[in-house]
Amino acid sequence: MGLSEFALIDRYFRKCGVRRTDVRVGVGDDAALLEPQAGGELVAAIDTLVAGVHFPHGSPPASIGHRALAVNLSDLAAMGARPSWALLALTLPNVDEAWLSEFAAGFSALAYAHDVALVGGDTTSGPLCVTVQILGHVPRSEGLLRSGARPGDLVFVSGTPGDAAAGLAVEQGRLNAPDEGATYLRKRFLFPAPRMALGERLRSYASACIDVSDGLLGDVGKLAQASGCGVELSYAEVPISDALVQAVGDARARELALTGGDDYELCFTVRPQNVGRLQQDLPPERWGYSLIGVVREAPGAVVMSGGNVMEFSHCGYDHFASSLS
Ligand code: ADP
Ligand code: MG
Repeated sequence: MGLSEFALIDRYFRKCGVRRTDVRVGVGDDAALLEPQAGGELVAAIDTLVAGVHFPHGSPPASIGHRALAVNLSDLAAMGARPSWALLALTLPNVDEAWLSEFAAGFSALAYAHDVALVGGDTTSGPLCVTVQILGHVPRSEGLLRSGARPGDLVFVSGTPGDAAAGLAVEQGRLNAPDEGATYLRKRFLFPAPRMALGERLRSYASACIDVSDGLLGDVGKLAQASGCGVELSYAEVPISDALVQAVGDARARELALTGGDDYELCFTVRPQNVGRLQQDLPPERWGYSLIGVVREAPGAVVMSGGNVMEFSHCGYDHFASSLS
């Protein structure tokens, strides 16, 4: 390693993200000293991205930095929380300054967008692996849980799931898409936008919430299970982007929206009596969410189309088998 570990941390991570007044001691000492907010609960989440597993080898470093933070921010959004601080454990195969500079820039830009300070971490040598821990706050007892849904609640999802799975396939050369669409889909995988503002606002309306990271159908199933009920989605109501339909057609677009991964959208439930207030205060066209189904007593997550139950393989990856070039 050309650059010493100390110099590397100093150059790329000491001033990464925003400066916050609630950071007494940040990067540089043995540990960070942080001032939690009075009257709130501390919210903590951690996620690891392994090269070749969670992103393709050779991914743009800015995207790796962005995604490592984004996946954690999305978990906080799903809790209705606001992020404050992040820690970064970075395992690098070698010290490549151009790579580090882009990685830090990708991380920092998203940290700035959501007022997050990087307050510490760890740097080691080995196969490329990025772990981020995020800490944030939510007003006491107001955090959104997976377990709050009841039969009769309506089910919503933000954005257009499925785009990221197709974007990854484009990135890996498994899918060809028209130029403009390809750029859009790739961006949806490489630079997901966690729904922080929506998550915070949903505290006043949602009965349960989960972020969609492993595929909408599977994740809404986890929410339903945690709530001790089931969920029925409407195939026709699953929101899909024009770019996705143009790239894979309507049927595969819907299938990807239900079973693809890496969306980082929010799936949430709302009591029927609160839906009017939700839609008035947070207009769906402005906030970008859609009604896709209803919570029911019978366990499991099913997708209905014209009275029939649709079957899905729960695996986004395979959907491109026939598009291999
Ligand atoms: P120690 O040996 O006491 O664990 P380190 O040399 O690992 O100390 O870290 C020194 C300081 O740099 C600590 O404040 C640590 O939190 C911070 N740090 C190390 N790696 C990173 C990183 N990748 N990003 C942000 N801060 C880091
Ligand atoms: Mg250390």
